[in-house]
Formats: sequence, structure tokens, C-alpha cells
Amino acid sequence: MKAIRIIKSQKQEIMPGRFINAPLPAAELNYDDTSPFVLLHHFGPFEINYLNKFAFEPHPHRGFDAVTFLFDGEMQHRDSTGGTGHLSAGDVQWMTAGSGILHEESQPEGFLKQGGVIHGIQLWINLPRKYKMSSPRYQDIASGNIPVIETGSSTERVIAGEYKGIRGPAETYSPIIAVHGKIKNGQAIKSEIPEYNNSLVYVTLGSISIGDSLITGGNMAQLSGEGKEFEISAAEDSEYLLLSGKPLGEPAVQYGPFVMNTMGEIKQAFLDYREGKFGILRD
Ligand code: MN
Repeated sequence: MKAIRIIKSQKQEIMPGRFINAPLPAAELNYDDTSPFVLLHHFGPFEINYLNKFAFEPHPHRGFDAVTFLFDGEMQHRDSTGGTGHLSAGDVQWMTAGSGILHEESQPEGFLKQGGVIHGIQLWINLPRKYKMSSPRYQDIASGNIPVIETGSSTERVIAGEYKGIRGPAETYSPIIAVHGKIKNGQAIKSEIPEYNNSLVYVTLGSISIGDSLITGGNMAQLSGEGKEFEISAAEDSEYLLLSGKPLGEPAVQYGPFVMNTMGEIKQAFLDYREGKFGILRD
């Protein structure tokens, strides 16, 4: 298995003066090349304080899982099901929007007052058609509940799926592997994923090599579907997110905060949202 394409992130100004890396969706990839992965936004590291937040006002989602991998800082959320949660460095929030949720994401007051660095990834994973309208749910995965595989002083945290015989804690609606790797300067990690999956490696810090391909920070490699094994090496301390999923083989339409199978279903999502069917956020 090898890297067949390097995808350079687009820079997106997600709020005034705040640029994120957005490698997915990518102009050079079709959805069938990345299914079930729809969108990857890498935010930070950003300096945050009470005058300069990284917060998202209430907004809806339907039809997919929105996963937040927080590497540094703190985040909090609340939603229209009455759910709330708090994330610290290393935690993962696996939110199934399903039939529809309205939520807001921000930093806790204490964190804003002190100021600090925030760094993470938001990943959208499509749901199979038959689960798109399932009930919304949250899986708050604490860092301490994520198994760690050690190779030398490098580590792989298995967040979802079965990887090297270790099962990650996230429950998913289709077969997915998500591994957060931290690789030390001069070391190498042997990796193994199922054949014929769609697999991506996004580099959050430093730079890594897969075979002859160098992937620098903020960019992503698409792996070939053939073969299972590959080696990741690094000439500096680096971090990455390895994603591998069985393609859903269903059409997908993404529009704004919704991911459905047809444009008709997208229109229905907007109608339902306007009619208040996603609920409200209570004070
Ligand atoms: Mn959201």
C-alpha cells in the first residue's frame, strides 16, 4: 500500500481572521474516493482568549456523524436534545446528527479568561442511507479511554475500529478506523488497514513519509486500496490522523450543514429546520 495522491489543503477563513486547513472536500477527489469521509477541517493551533474566541453560534446538522478530535485546549457544546459536554486535550466527541440536531460549540469561560491554545480537527463521516434519520446521540470519549499502541517512543491512539487487534471505543454506523499517531523524529511505525477501503492520512504537525511520498503539515495523502501494510516514518516529531473506511456505495449530496442522498432530501432538511423541527437551545 502506498500514497497515490497528496492533497494540499485549501485555506478557509471560517471566522474573521481565522484560517483553517480544509483538505476535504478536495477539488481533485470524487466523493467515491473518500466515502464515507465527507469533510475534514483542521483548526489551529490558535491563540484564544475572551476577546478572540473560536466559537460557533447555534446551527443545525442532519445525516452524518460530526467528530471533533481535540489535541489542545478546551471546547464545550450544547444541543437541542438537552445534551452538553466538555472536551479537554486528547478527548474526542463523536456526535451523530442523525435525523437532526441544533448545537453550538465554544470555549468554557475559565479557559477564555486565562487564554490558551486550541488545536483540533472536525471530521464529517457520512451515514449509510438506512441510518440517516436515526436518533441523534453523543459519544464523549475521554482521552484516558482511548487505547494506545507504542512503537519505540511513538504512539498510536485507536479511537475507532479494529486496528492491529485493538478495538477503539467509538461506535460507528459503518466500518471505520480512526487512529491518532504521534511519531518521533527518526522513528517508523508499521501500519495495517483493510484492503479496498478508502484511506486518508492527514498531517497535523511536522511532516511524515509514506514510502517515497512526503506529506507536510496541513496536507493529506490518499492511500491506494491495494495491499494492507505500509510504513510511516518521520524526520521530525510529527502527528497525523489515519482514517480508513469501507465505501458506502451510495450517492451523497452535501449542502451547507446537511449530508443526504438526494437534493430532494436536502430541501426537506431546510424546510424541517425552518419549521423548527430541529428543536431549540434552552438557556
Ligand atoms: Mn457543528
